[in-house]
Amino acid sequence: MRLEYAMSHMGLWRPKGAPPGPIADANVVAICPACQTRQTLAEATFLEGPDLSVYGCQNGCPIPLVEIRRVGEEYQLAARTPLGLEPPPK
Ligand SMILES: [Zn+2]
Repeated sequence: MRLEYAMSHMGLWRPKGAPPGPIADANVVAICPACQTRQTLAEATFLEGPDLSVYGCQNGCPIPLVEIRRVGEEYQLAARTPLGLEPPPK
């Protein structure tokens, strides 16, 4: 499950000051705790599994940026780094 889906359909996380309406992965920014590379979740790697989906650093660092875990019928979001919001590119 991608974060943009989790946010729009499950209300798991919503950044401060976010405008109403859908938020895309391309607008969510994370800074890798290992290499400090700033990247959007659309640029990060994404591995989707039935019970766990993981966003990873685009540089292949071993620390996941965001994990979305399925527990029964619920989804839990764990961000390993603060997530920010970036306006869409013009
Ligand atoms: Zn990294």
